[in-house]
Amino acid sequence: MQVVTSPRRITELMKALRNQGKSIGLVPTMGALHDGHASLFRESLKYNDITVVSVFVNPMQFNNQDDFNNYPRPFAQDKKILESLGVDVLYAPSEKEMYPESPLVNLDFGVMAEIMEGAFRPGHFDGVGLVIAKLLNQVSPDKAYFGLKDLQQFLLISRLVKDLSFTSEVVGLPIIREKSGLAMSSRNMRLSDVGLQLAANIYTGLEFAQKNISDGFDVDETKLAVFDFYSRIDGLEVEYLEFVNPDDLSAIEPRISPKDVAICVAAYVEGIRLIDNIYLRQD
Ligand code: AMP
Repeated sequence: MQVVTSPRRITELMKALRNQGKSIGLVPTMGALHDGHASLFRESLKYNDITVVSVFVNPMQFNNQDDFNNYPRPFAQDKKILESLGVDVLYAPSEKEMYPESPLVNLDFGVMAEIMEGAFRPGHFDGVGLVIAKLLNQVSPDKAYFGLKDLQQFLLISRLVKDLSFTSEVVGLPIIREKSGLAMSSRNMRLSDVGLQLAANIYTGLEFAQKNISDGFDVDETKLAVFDFYSRIDGLEVEYLEFVNPDDLSAIEPRISPKDVAICVAAYVEGIRLIDNIYLRQD
């Protein structure tokens, strides 16, 4: 596995590989790799000649300095994981090389970034958009892989690629979970065993919501029932619970039981912020 740390070098290397007729898959990550990430690497390895995994904890997308400082960075372990899976290139630029000067460009995603993550993490998606645009320009992959765990991020990146005419194809892949149902996340590393058990209730609540909707209850009734379920769990604090259109995150009329819905939640356990979602499509 080649390890590249400079943007200029990754661009040169990718150009050389493309000239040899190789297809390129990119998986952007912030490291602290787990099986959720690995599912994206495997998909890229399957469909591309070369798989590039970027590991970069992007300061521009953190609105909370403590969260940025405490984000896990087990780089040596990540490198081993990537090597063992057969990833071709690890791209790990430094902050200085990614942002030699403070960027002037500011991406504004409008209403789609004003709810959920965007509402509770001001500026988050401006930072995500900027770093993904930079990575797509630096690597120019044929395909770029993202997890649907970050549903809002996936939809916004899809729009970024469309709106700015990037030629890469954006691929979204399903959420990988622990046996308990808890969505795998780098942040889970910071939870105690008790915290991990508590956090598994996030998914139990989502399944409960999904069942209520498919049983014909409306959004308002379901929301109340799920809030009630979460409020009984000591140590779990819900930040938001939203029922939205899974294609564009637009609001769903509260007094209907929708056929298609994405139910999205953010919650705190032991001071750690976790997100998850579930899709319901009834054709
Ligand atoms: P992160 O390192 O958290 O920025 O995540 C890098 C990529 O992995 C993003 O596209 C995430 O959506 C995806 N990802 C993170 N956790 C999971 C998971 N449990 N299942 C599937 N994809 C995931």
